[in-house]
Order: sequence, then structure tokens, then C-alpha cells
Amino acid sequence: MSTPLHPQAPRLLLAARLVFVAWVSLALLAIQIGLSLFFTPDKLWLLHPDIFAILLIFQLTVAIGYIWAAVGVKCSACGRHMFFEDLGPKHASAPRVWSMDHWASTVMEILRFRRCSCMYCGSRFMVR
Ligand SMILES: [Zn+2]
Repeated sequence: MSTPLHPQAPRLLLAARLVFVAWVSLALLAIQIGLSLFFTPDKLWLLHPDIFAILLIFQLTVAIGYIWAAVGVKCSACGRHMFFEDLGPKHASAPRVWSMDHWASTVMEILRFRRCSCMYCGSRFMVR
């Protein structure tokens, strides 16, 4: 039996890509904050407050886009959200990539293999 295509595959892929963009942007913010310990904004253009503000606004925009994309994506088998992880039990076959949380593992699975698993019921989907 082949793995079914998730009915909201384009939205799943968009949400996963937005999470990745947010992770990269957060890394840039962390680098900027780290550099600010050693340099002043007049010595390094990357530390200029305008650059910091642009990164923060970009982060906020990506976060809003992610919430818009992720909030409506549900598992077609159990009806639970694919990207929002609660504290309850997860399905034993739901994968965890590099010891990440289940939702982050879902993001990585989508980005790396164009497939994902529901963390609640274990159903597998293709995301093409
Ligand atoms: Zn499910």
C-alpha cells in the first residue's frame, strides 16, 4: 500500500518552509546579539539598530505566516493539528528527528523527505 498524499500538502510544505526561514532568522539574531558583546554599532554595520529592527519585523512576519499556514492543517485520519504539539501522549511510531520535539521533527521530515507522520495517530502522508 502506498503512502497517501496529504490533502493539504502545499500548505504543509509552506508551513515547514516558514519554520525553516524562522530558524535561520533566529540564528542571525543570535549571531547579531553575540557580536554585540564585542563590537559597537558604529564599528560593525550588522549591529546597526535598523538591521536589528528589520530582522525582528521579518521574524514577526514569518511567525504570522506560519500561524496562518499551520493553524488549518490537520491530520486527515484523526483530525488533530499536524504542527501544534500538546503535552499528551504521542503515537509510538511518530518519528523524532535528532531528539527534536514531534512538531519540529514533522518540519524536518517534510523538508528532507517530503513526507510526514501524524504525531497523534501515526498516519503517514506524502507532501509533494
Ligand atoms: Zn492523525
